Amino acid sequence: MAWDFETDADFQAELDWIDHFVREEVEPLEHVLGSPWNIHDPLFKRLVPPLQAQVRERRLWACHLGPELGGAGYGQVRLALINEILGRALFAPIVFGCQAPDSGNGEILAHFGSAEQKRRYLQPLLNGSIVSCFAMTEPQGGADPNVFTTRAIREGDQWVLNGEKWFASNARYAAFLIVMAVTDPELGAHGGMSMFIVPADTPGLIIERNVGIADDPQATHAYLKLNDVRLSADSMLGEPGQAFVVAQVRLGGGRVHHAMRVIGQAQKALDAMCQRALSRSTQGSRLADKQLVQEKIADSWIELEQFRLLVMRTAWRIDKYQDYLKVRKDIAAVKAAMPKVLHDIAARALQVHGCLGVSDEMPFAGLIIRSFQMGLADGPTEVHKITLAKQLLRDYSPETEMFPTCHRPTAARAARAKFHEVLQPLARAEGDA
Ligand SMILES: Cc1cc2nc3c(=O)[nH]c(=O)nc-3n(C[C@H](O)[C@H](O)[C@H](O)COP(=O)(O)OP(=O)(O)OC[C@H]3O[C@@H](n4cnc5c(N)ncnc54)[C@H](O)[C@@H]3O)c2cc1C
Repeated sequence: MAWDFETDADFQAELDWIDHFVREEVEPLEHVLGSPWNIHDPLFKRLVPPLQAQVRERRLWACHLGPELGGAGYGQVRLALINEILGRALFAPIVFGCQAPDSGNGEILAHFGSAEQKRRYLQPLLNGSIVSCFAMTEPQGGADPNVFTTRAIREGDQWVLNGEKWFASNARYAAFLIVMAVTDPELGAHGGMSMFIVPADTPGLIIERNVGIADDPQATHAYLKLNDVRLSADSMLGEPGQAFVVAQVRLGGGRVHHAMRVIGQAQKALDAMCQRALSRSTQGSRLADKQLVQEKIADSWIELEQFRLLVMRTAWRIDKYQDYLKVRKDIAAVKAAMPKVLHDIAARALQVHGCLGVSDEMPFAGLIIRSFQMGLADGPTEVHKITLAKQLLRDYSPETEMFPTCHRPTAARAARAKFHEVLQPLARAEGDA
């Protein structure tokens, strides 16, 4: 019977190396660099590539990929153990070659790209020499592809794209964008939309403005306009009408990878909370000795461990089935649980740090905002809860009787009938006595 929570010693040695490397070499980067996707920044070029070289040398580069694409082919369980360490540091994903949205874009290029598309876009993406953008959301469309209006029309040997995209992360640094557009309005979202690869320097592709998040100085989410963007006929990624399928392949893995990294972020907040509780005394005792603070620590640990187990089991099921459709329910559950876990633990850590906690000198307010981002990016929590509930309901059928199956009088009647032969003599004996 296989039911195991152990990490084998060889892989634990890798995890120990990653943990040390991330704490010592990678975490400091976020204090001196801007956006992790700004690979063009001269300081980035000096500081990050030498670390990436060490990761490559250690054969830990792009661990989300199989060996055929230059990754280690570790599978999702091992990836989860790595990602929860990488989650601690803003720059860790780019140093390890597994940052979103490039990891997901690489995955769909590998799955659906032509040989030429792979040569031109996938290879440099995997090498880390370019970054990319995924532009699906529309300002009027949000999470609902049924109302997307960005249109691609075939004109001779070209595709012509017109429309608007919203919150296209890292478009300003990207070498190319993967854009979802309507190719046949008659067929609706599932058969009438296609994916296109748009080089960032294509005339007509305009960044209207870059939108920032809360007080983050890096405005990296683009409001895009596509005005008569002309693309060659071979710019489509996948088959005509296949955009929905392509997006699902991309998002399935991406959602779990985000969750793996969120474990690391929440753990960082819990570590800080515990350290503060032991360090700070007020009204005659340490915070750690006050029961209401102890409750915060205990609740945080329980919630984080529950979430971690859910993520690990989901990772294990992805490895087992090799089919995202079979783990849709699990991925939806992970996606829906993730923002609350991060929010609640970061909020408690903030509270335990008092005014220091709320200040811009600590990371907690940023983590709380990030929890909201996690509840929106790749689809809002509500939509994932709906998916989860629908998937769960498939395993049930309606009551056949007027009263529910667990109705106690009905169950007791059935039990009496089942044990009739034993119960009847006993009842008779009691009556005689
Ligand atoms: C940090 C970040 C990065 C992002 N990066 C990208 C990117 O790179 N590319 C890209 O294409 N998009 C990106 N997005 C956009 C993201 O996909 C959208 O935010 C998401 O799909 C929701 O769309 P919306 O924000 O327009 O919200 P809306 O669709 O307007 O929804 C607003 C709210 O309504 C509620 N709601 C929506 N649907 C339902 C429902 N069915 N039932 C009940 N309540 C519902 C939810 O509370 C939801 O938050 C990013 C978003 C964030 C926050």
